[in-house]
Parts: sequence; C-alpha cells; structure tokens
Amino acid sequence: MKVYLMSDLEGAAGVLDSVNWCYPDSRYYELAKELLTREVNAAVDGFFAAGADQVVVQDGHGAGGILVPLLDDRARLQRGWEGPGGGAFPFGLDESYDVMAWVGQHPKAGTPLGHLCHTGSFDVLDFSLNGVSVGEFGQLAFLGTVFGAVPIFASGCLSFTREAEALVPGIETVAVKEGVRSGSGDACGAAEYERRNAGAIHLSPGAARERIRLGAARALTRYRTDPDQFRPARLAPPYSKRIRYRDGRVLESGGADDLALLLNS
Ligand SMILES: [Zn+2]
Repeated sequence: MKVYLMSDLEGAAGVLDSVNWCYPDSRYYELAKELLTREVNAAVDGFFAAGADQVVVQDGHGAGGILVPLLDDRARLQRGWEGPGGGAFPFGLDESYDVMAWVGQHPKAGTPLGHLCHTGSFDVLDFSLNGVSVGEFGQLAFLGTVFGAVPIFASGCLSFTREAEALVPGIETVAVKEGVRSGSGDACGAAEYERRNAGAIHLSPGAARERIRLGAARALTRYRTDPDQFRPARLAPPYSKRIRYRDGRVLESGGADDLALLLNS
C-alpha cells in the first residue's frame, strides 16, 4: 500500500496568516514549517499504523513547507517535479500509488469562511476544469483518477474539508481550524485578497495532530476494508481549463487528452 501525501502550508493549525507565516522572509516561516511537518508526521504515523508500506510526502508549498530534519524517518520526501511540458503537474503522482492524502491544504479561491483560500496564487478568481470549479485539491484529485490513485484523506480548515467532501464523497477529513470571514472577496485585488481571509479559530497544534493521526489511520483502514467507499468525481477527456484572474484576464485552453499537460500549459 503506497501513499501519496501532498502537503501545503496555509492549512496547518497555528499558521495564522499568509504574510507573517508563509514566505521565506516571514517572521514565523520556520515555525509554520514545524507546525505543518508535525501534522504531516501525524498522518504518516496513522498511515503506517493502518498498514501502509510506503508514504511519499510531496512538499507542495511555493517556497517549501516541510522542515526537513523533523520529517518522520519512515517517510520519503519529494520536492522538485518535472511533468509533461516541463511543468510541475502531476507533482510526482504516477501509477505506483494506491491512495492519496492532503495535509495542510487550503480551500480554493472565493470560498466563504475559507482560511487563506486561494488557487495557486492570490490573483486567481476562479479555476475550472471541464466547467467544474476546482482548487489545488481538485486539480490533483482529478489527476488521481487518471493515475488510479484514490483520494482517501484530507485535512485543513473546515471549508476546505467540505470542498474535498463535495468532490470526493466518502473521503475521510479532519478540520483543524475554522475560518471566520464570510463572503467571497471576489471584488478584492490580489494583495487585498491575500490579507482578507486571515481570521480563523484554530485547534491547538497537539489536538490537531491527534485528530490527523486518527483520521489518517481510519481512512486507510476504511480503504482496505472497502475501497468503493471513496467515490471521486471523474472528468472525461478531452480536458479543458478556464482561469479567471482578479484583474479581468481570462485564460482558456481545451481539447487536451493529457490532463497533466493541460494543467502545465
Ligand atoms: Zn497552495
């Protein structure tokens, strides 16, 4: 049983905002990485307890989110990807993986009550694949259906867990914080939007980790008992994408047979 674990920084408990926590020059960047890495380790621990043979952690945050010396000894870490067309998609995913998991993931752009929600960057208003609005989770979850890897676990803020459950009915989720900012923020420019959704009520890091450890174990146990409990939405080729930016630009491309190539274009 080989587990693909995507990580991102904004969705970890205790990571309070983007400006002060998520960039290399942020005052709490190293602390944010520690909080994420401890959550990742909790998931790794849960997966091994439930019978995983391998867990490969993908460090998906822009400048890096994993505090490498702290990573669980049983996990492997991937950073640096080269997909079709030279882009990062599918972020190391291939046919060797059985299941997929997300830790520290944030919701897609425009999510009411979403903490630090964005899709790729804060200047994106909406991103859709074959007419389905998706965030970073959805882009990768759809790739999972292409490569035969089943999304089984996702943790982040409550709004993110709802986004995951809508796209993958049956997925096991753990909410580690709850955003408090209502509305979409669609009228904001990029810099304003980045600061807009910084309010949330967080679990303590220790409580978050315990829930993640139990949730990850439960997810893999459920998968091994009956994989059909996880019912990811699927897209049929040809694939198309449409990106709307906050400054009014729209980027559209379609007619693609290779979803990773389309995402990289
Ligand atoms: Zn992200």
